[in-house]
Amino acid sequence: MEAVVEADDVRKTYGETIALSGASLSVESGEVFGLIGPNGAGKTTLVRALTGTTDPDDGTVRVLGESPTTVDRHRLGVLPQAFSPPDRLSARELLAYYAGLYDEARDPDAVLADVGLADAGDTWYENLSGGQKRRVCVGATLINDPDVCFLDEPTTGIDPAGRRTIWELIEDLAAGGTTVVLTTHDMAEAERLADRVGLLADGSLVAQGTPGALVREHGGSSRLTVETSADPSALEDLAFPVDACDGALVVRDVDPAEIGAVVDVLDDRGVAYTGLTWAEPDLEDVYLALADDAERARTDRIGTAAGLAKAGETA
Ligand code: ADP
Repeated sequence: MEAVVEADDVRKTYGETIALSGASLSVESGEVFGLIGPNGAGKTTLVRALTGTTDPDDGTVRVLGESPTTVDRHRLGVLPQAFSPPDRLSARELLAYYAGLYDEARDPDAVLADVGLADAGDTWYENLSGGQKRRVCVGATLINDPDVCFLDEPTTGIDPAGRRTIWELIEDLAAGGTTVVLTTHDMAEAERLADRVGLLADGSLVAQGTPGALVREHGGSSRLTVETSADPSALEDLAFPVDACDGALVVRDVDPAEIGAVVDVLDDRGVAYTGLTWAEPDLEDVYLALADDAERARTDRIGTAAGLAKAGETA
Protein backbone atom coordinates (compact mmCIF):
# COMPACT_ATOMS: atom_id res chain seq x y z
CA MET A 1 0.00 0.00 0.00
CA GLU A 2 1.08 3.54 -0.73
CA ALA A 3 2.09 5.73 2.23
CA VAL A 4 0.11 8.95 2.01
CA VAL A 5 1.32 10.61 5.19
CA GLU A 6 4.83 10.02 6.46
CA ALA A 7 6.94 11.39 9.28
CA ASP A 8 10.49 10.14 9.68
CA ASP A 9 12.42 10.97 12.85
CA VAL A 10 10.83 14.41 13.16
CA ARG A 11 12.34 16.69 15.79
CA LYS A 12 11.19 20.07 16.99
CA THR A 13 12.19 22.17 19.97
CA TYR A 14 10.79 25.45 21.25
CA GLY A 15 13.56 27.04 23.31
CA GLU A 16 14.28 24.53 26.06
CA THR A 17 11.12 22.51 25.35
CA ILE A 18 11.49 19.37 23.25
CA ALA A 19 8.11 19.06 21.53
CA LEU A 20 9.13 16.22 19.17
CA SER A 21 12.13 14.02 19.87
CA GLY A 22 12.12 11.78 16.79
CA ALA A 23 8.53 11.03 15.80
CA SER A 24 7.99 8.55 12.96
CA LEU A 25 4.78 7.28 11.43
CA SER A 26 3.43 6.16 8.10
CA VAL A 27 -0.24 6.27 7.16
CA GLU A 28 -1.48 4.35 4.15
CA SER A 29 -4.02 5.44 1.60
CA GLY A 30 -7.55 5.18 2.97
CA GLU A 31 -6.40 4.53 6.52
CA VAL A 32 -7.70 6.30 9.62
CA PHE A 33 -4.78 6.88 11.97
CA GLY A 34 -5.52 8.01 15.52
CA LEU A 35 -2.88 9.92 17.46
CA ILE A 36 -3.31 9.73 21.21
CA GLY A 37 -1.14 10.87 24.08
CA PRO A 38 -1.10 13.08 27.15
CA ASN A 39 -1.26 16.87 27.02
CA GLY A 40 2.06 18.25 25.88
CA ALA A 41 3.12 14.95 24.24
CA GLY A 42 3.59 16.69 20.88
CA LYS A 43 0.43 15.71 18.98
CA THR A 44 -0.41 19.21 17.75
CA THR A 45 3.21 19.91 16.87
CA LEU A 46 3.33 16.70 14.81
CA VAL A 47 0.08 17.59 13.03
CA ARG A 48 1.44 21.09 12.39
CA ALA A 49 4.65 19.62 10.97
CA LEU A 50 2.66 17.27 8.75
CA THR A 51 0.48 20.10 7.48
CA GLY A 52 3.30 22.53 6.86
CA THR A 53 2.34 25.06 9.53
CA THR A 54 5.55 24.47 11.44
CA ASP A 55 9.00 23.53 10.14
CA PRO A 56 10.63 20.55 11.83
CA ASP A 57 14.20 21.18 13.06
CA ASP A 58 15.14 17.76 11.72
CA GLY A 59 13.62 14.74 10.02
CA THR A 60 11.30 14.55 7.03
CA VAL A 61 7.56 14.85 6.52
CA ARG A 62 5.74 13.90 3.32
CA VAL A 63 2.09 14.18 2.38
CA LEU A 64 0.94 12.56 -0.85
CA GLY A 65 4.62 12.05 -1.63
CA GLU A 66 5.50 15.74 -1.35
CA SER A 67 6.60 18.27 1.20
CA PRO A 68 3.53 19.62 3.05
CA THR A 69 4.51 23.12 1.92
CA THR A 70 4.30 22.26 -1.79
CA VAL A 71 1.55 19.64 -1.84
CA ASP A 72 -1.66 20.64 -3.64
CA ARG A 73 -3.74 22.33 -0.87
CA HIS A 74 -6.93 21.42 -2.75
CA ARG A 75 -6.32 17.81 -1.82
CA LEU A 76 -5.94 18.51 1.93
CA GLY A 77 -8.39 19.25 4.72
CA VAL A 78 -6.93 20.61 7.93
CA LEU A 79 -8.86 21.17 11.15
CA PRO A 80 -6.54 22.87 13.64
CA GLN A 81 -7.23 22.68 17.35
CA ALA A 82 -7.95 26.40 17.46
CA PHE A 83 -9.95 27.54 14.44
CA SER A 84 -11.51 31.02 14.66
CA PRO A 85 -13.60 31.91 11.62
CA PRO A 86 -15.31 35.32 11.35
CA ASP A 87 -18.06 35.57 14.00
CA ARG A 88 -20.64 37.50 12.04
CA LEU A 89 -21.15 35.08 9.19
CA SER A 90 -23.91 32.51 9.35
CA ALA A 91 -22.95 28.84 9.32
CA ARG A 92 -24.01 28.63 5.66
CA GLU A 93 -22.13 31.81 4.69
CA LEU A 94 -19.02 30.48 6.38
CA LEU A 95 -19.11 27.24 4.47
CA ALA A 96 -19.84 29.14 1.24
CA TYR A 97 -16.83 31.36 2.00
CA TYR A 98 -14.52 28.35 2.44
CA ALA A 99 -16.06 26.71 -0.65
CA GLY A 100 -15.11 29.83 -2.62
CA LEU A 101 -11.44 29.26 -1.85
CA TYR A 102 -11.41 26.15 -4.05
CA ASP A 103 -11.96 25.56 -7.76
CA GLU A 104 -14.26 22.72 -6.89
CA ALA A 105 -16.12 22.40 -3.62
CA ARG A 106 -19.10 20.64 -2.13
CA ASP A 107 -22.50 22.28 -1.71
CA PRO A 108 -22.48 24.12 1.67
CA ASP A 109 -26.01 22.93 2.51
CA ALA A 110 -25.05 19.30 1.93
CA VAL A 111 -22.03 19.74 4.22
CA LEU A 112 -24.21 21.44 6.86
CA ALA A 113 -26.48 18.40 6.77
CA ASP A 114 -23.47 16.06 7.03
CA VAL A 115 -22.30 17.72 10.24
CA GLY A 116 -25.83 17.69 11.66
CA LEU A 117 -26.46 21.43 11.35
CA ALA A 118 -29.12 21.54 8.62
CA ASP A 119 -31.32 23.70 10.91
CA ALA A 120 -28.59 26.12 11.96
CA GLY A 121 -27.55 27.40 8.54
CA ASP A 122 -28.83 30.93 9.16
CA THR A 123 -27.36 31.31 12.65
CA TRP A 124 -24.36 33.58 13.03
CA TYR A 125 -21.23 31.71 14.00
CA GLU A 126 -20.97 33.70 17.25
CA ASN A 127 -24.46 32.56 18.29
CA LEU A 128 -23.80 28.85 17.81
CA SER A 129 -23.00 26.71 20.85
CA GLY A 130 -19.40 25.56 21.34
CA GLY A 131 -20.19 22.12 19.93
CA GLN A 132 -22.06 23.56 16.93
CA LYS A 133 -19.10 25.85 16.20
CA ARG A 134 -16.77 22.86 16.19
CA ARG A 135 -19.10 21.08 13.79
CA VAL A 136 -19.09 24.04 11.38
CA CYS A 137 -15.29 23.97 11.53
CA VAL A 138 -15.29 20.25 10.71
CA GLY A 139 -17.62 21.10 7.79
CA ALA A 140 -15.25 23.83 6.57
CA THR A 141 -12.40 21.29 6.66
CA LEU A 142 -14.34 18.91 4.43
CA ILE A 143 -15.78 21.48 2.01
CA ASN A 144 -13.18 20.71 -0.69
CA ASP A 145 -13.79 16.96 -0.46
CA PRO A 146 -10.13 16.36 0.48
CA ASP A 147 -8.13 13.21 -0.20
CA VAL A 148 -6.25 13.58 3.08
CA CYS A 149 -7.69 15.05 6.23
CA PHE A 150 -5.96 16.14 9.42
CA LEU A 151 -8.36 16.58 12.31
CA ASP A 152 -6.87 17.87 15.56
CA GLU A 153 -9.40 16.93 18.27
CA PRO A 154 -12.44 17.07 15.97
CA THR A 155 -15.02 16.25 18.65
CA THR A 156 -13.71 18.13 21.69
CA GLY A 157 -16.60 20.07 23.23
CA ILE A 158 -19.26 18.37 21.14
CA ASP A 159 -22.21 16.71 22.91
CA PRO A 160 -22.62 12.91 22.62
CA ALA A 161 -25.18 13.05 19.79
CA GLY A 162 -23.07 15.53 17.81
CA ARG A 163 -20.01 13.40 18.43
CA ARG A 164 -21.76 10.42 16.89
CA THR A 165 -22.67 12.51 13.85
CA ILE A 166 -19.00 13.42 13.40
CA TRP A 167 -17.94 9.81 13.94
CA GLU A 168 -20.33 8.64 11.24
CA LEU A 169 -19.05 11.38 8.97
CA ILE A 170 -15.44 10.25 9.49
CA GLU A 171 -16.47 6.64 8.89
CA ASP A 172 -18.14 7.69 5.63
CA LEU A 173 -15.00 9.59 4.62
CA ALA A 174 -12.87 6.53 5.30
CA ALA A 175 -15.29 4.30 3.41
CA GLY A 176 -14.95 6.69 0.46
CA GLY A 177 -11.15 6.29 0.51
CA THR A 178 -10.13 9.49 2.33
CA THR A 179 -7.00 9.14 4.45
CA VAL A 180 -7.58 10.58 7.93
CA VAL A 181 -5.14 11.51 10.67
CA LEU A 182 -6.92 12.54 13.84
CA THR A 183 -5.85 13.38 17.36
CA THR A 184 -8.11 12.67 20.28
CA HIS A 185 -8.27 12.31 24.04
CA ASP A 186 -11.35 10.14 23.69
CA MET A 187 -10.24 6.52 23.71
CA ALA A 188 -13.69 5.30 22.60
CA GLU A 189 -13.33 7.58 19.57
CA ALA A 190 -9.87 6.23 18.75
CA GLU A 191 -11.01 2.64 19.24
CA ARG A 192 -14.06 3.10 17.06
CA LEU A 193 -12.59 5.15 14.22
CA ALA A 194 -8.92 4.34 13.92
CA ASP A 195 -7.58 1.45 11.85
CA ARG A 196 -4.32 2.07 13.65
CA VAL A 197 -3.48 4.09 16.72
CA GLY A 198 -0.17 5.70 17.63
CA LEU A 199 0.61 6.71 21.18
CA LEU A 200 2.78 9.78 21.37
CA ALA A 201 4.57 10.31 24.66
CA ASP A 202 7.31 12.79 25.33
CA GLY A 203 7.74 13.66 21.67
CA SER A 204 7.91 10.23 20.03
CA LEU A 205 5.59 7.40 19.10
CA VAL A 206 6.08 4.80 21.80
CA ALA A 207 3.57 2.31 20.35
CA GLN A 208 1.61 1.89 17.13
CA GLY A 209 -0.84 -0.74 15.98
CA THR A 210 -4.45 -1.68 15.55
CA PRO A 211 -6.49 -1.01 18.70
CA GLY A 212 -6.92 -4.78 19.16
CA ALA A 213 -3.19 -5.51 18.90
CA LEU A 214 -2.29 -2.68 21.29
CA VAL A 215 -4.82 -3.92 23.83
CA ARG A 216 -3.50 -7.49 23.57
CA GLU A 217 0.09 -6.33 23.95
CA HIS A 218 -0.22 -3.58 26.55
CA GLY A 219 -3.77 -3.67 27.96
CA GLY A 220 -3.07 -6.02 30.85
CA SER A 221 -5.69 -8.23 32.40
CA SER A 222 -9.46 -8.19 32.76
CA ARG A 223 -10.93 -6.44 35.81
CA LEU A 224 -13.78 -7.42 38.07
CA THR A 225 -14.64 -4.31 40.08
CA VAL A 226 -16.43 -4.94 43.37
CA GLU A 227 -18.02 -1.81 44.83
CA THR A 228 -17.27 -2.31 48.49
CA SER A 229 -15.58 -0.57 51.39
CA ALA A 230 -13.93 -3.89 52.39
CA ASP A 231 -10.17 -4.26 52.54
CA PRO A 232 -8.31 -6.37 49.89
CA SER A 233 -7.52 -8.87 52.67
CA ALA A 234 -11.24 -9.81 52.62
CA LEU A 235 -10.52 -11.60 49.34
CA GLU A 236 -7.15 -13.07 50.18
CA ASP A 237 -8.52 -16.63 49.70
CA LEU A 238 -8.94 -15.94 46.00
CA ALA A 239 -6.39 -17.18 43.53
CA PHE A 240 -6.56 -13.80 41.74
CA PRO A 241 -4.66 -10.58 42.42
CA VAL A 242 -6.81 -8.02 44.28
CA ASP A 243 -6.14 -4.26 44.63
CA ALA A 244 -8.04 -1.43 46.26
CA CYS A 245 -8.85 1.30 43.73
CA ASP A 246 -11.14 4.36 44.03
CA GLY A 247 -13.28 2.99 46.85
CA ALA A 248 -13.64 -0.45 45.26
CA LEU A 249 -11.75 -3.73 45.07
CA VAL A 250 -10.41 -4.73 41.67
CA VAL A 251 -9.93 -8.44 41.06
CA ARG A 252 -7.71 -9.12 38.04
CA ASP A 253 -7.47 -11.99 35.55
CA VAL A 254 -10.97 -13.29 36.26
CA ASP A 255 -12.62 -15.13 33.39
CA PRO A 256 -16.36 -14.43 32.98
CA ALA A 257 -16.96 -18.07 33.96
CA GLU A 258 -15.10 -17.51 37.23
CA ILE A 259 -17.19 -14.54 38.41
CA GLY A 260 -19.50 -16.92 40.33
CA ALA A 261 -16.57 -18.23 42.37
CA VAL A 262 -15.65 -14.67 43.39
CA VAL A 263 -19.27 -13.95 44.37
CA ASP A 264 -19.26 -17.13 46.51
CA VAL A 265 -16.17 -15.92 48.37
CA LEU A 266 -17.77 -12.49 48.91
CA ASP A 267 -20.89 -14.17 50.34
CA ASP A 268 -18.93 -16.66 52.49
CA ARG A 269 -16.92 -13.80 53.95
CA GLY A 270 -20.05 -11.66 54.51
CA VAL A 271 -18.55 -8.87 52.40
CA ALA A 272 -21.23 -6.27 51.58
CA TYR A 273 -21.01 -4.84 48.06
CA THR A 274 -23.22 -2.55 45.99
CA GLY A 275 -22.13 -3.51 42.49
CA LEU A 276 -20.01 -5.83 40.36
CA THR A 277 -18.63 -4.88 36.96
CA TRP A 278 -16.46 -7.05 34.74
CA ALA A 279 -14.46 -5.42 31.96
CA GLU A 280 -11.92 -6.54 29.41
CA PRO A 281 -8.92 -4.27 29.02
CA ASP A 282 -9.39 -1.53 26.45
CA LEU A 283 -7.47 1.26 24.79
CA GLU A 284 -7.75 3.40 27.91
CA ASP A 285 -5.76 0.76 29.82
CA VAL A 286 -3.14 0.78 27.06
CA TYR A 287 -2.99 4.56 27.23
CA LEU A 288 -2.63 4.64 31.01
CA ALA A 289 0.02 1.90 31.05
CA LEU A 290 2.16 3.38 28.27
CA ALA A 291 1.78 7.01 29.34
CA ASP A 292 2.80 5.93 32.84
CA ASP A 293 5.88 4.09 31.52
CA ALA A 294 6.87 7.12 29.43
CA GLU A 295 6.43 9.48 32.38
CA ARG A 296 8.57 7.21 34.57
CA ALA A 297 11.29 7.08 31.89
CA ARG A 298 11.18 10.88 31.60
CA THR A 299 11.49 11.36 35.37
CA ASP A 300 14.41 8.89 35.44
CA ARG A 301 16.11 10.80 32.63
CA ILE A 302 15.69 14.13 34.44
CA GLY A 303 16.96 12.51 37.67
CA THR A 304 20.01 11.08 35.89
CA ALA A 305 20.76 14.41 34.18
CA ALA A 306 20.44 16.25 37.51
CA GLY A 307 22.72 13.64 39.14
CA LEU A 308 25.32 14.01 36.40
CA ALA A 309 25.21 17.81 36.67
CA LYS A 310 25.69 17.61 40.42
CA ALA A 311 28.55 15.13 40.02
CA GLY A 312 30.10 17.54 37.51
CA GLU A 313 29.85 20.42 40.00
CA THR A 314 31.54 18.49 42.79
CA ALA A 315 34.25 16.93 40.57
P1 ADP B 1 -0.12 18.10 22.56
O1 ADP B 1 -0.84 18.52 21.32
O2 ADP B 1 0.19 16.65 22.61
O3 ADP B 1 -0.81 18.57 23.82
P2 ADP B 1 1.83 20.07 21.75
O4 ADP B 1 2.38 19.63 20.46
O5 ADP B 1 0.80 21.16 21.75
O6 ADP B 1 1.32 18.80 22.57
O7 ADP B 1 3.04 20.58 22.67
C1 ADP B 1 4.22 19.82 22.89
C2 ADP B 1 5.16 20.66 23.75
O8 ADP B 1 5.64 21.77 22.98
C3 ADP B 1 4.49 21.28 24.98
O9 ADP B 1 5.43 21.29 26.02
C4 ADP B 1 4.15 22.67 24.52
O10 ADP B 1 4.11 23.57 25.62
C5 ADP B 1 5.30 23.00 23.59
N1 ADP B 1 4.89 23.91 22.51
C6 ADP B 1 4.02 23.64 21.52
N2 ADP B 1 3.92 24.70 20.67
C7 ADP B 1 4.72 25.66 21.16
C8 ADP B 1 5.06 26.98 20.74
N3 ADP B 1 4.54 27.52 19.64
N4 ADP B 1 5.94 27.67 21.50
C9 ADP B 1 6.51 27.13 22.61
N5 ADP B 1 6.24 25.89 23.05
C10 ADP B 1 5.36 25.16 22.35
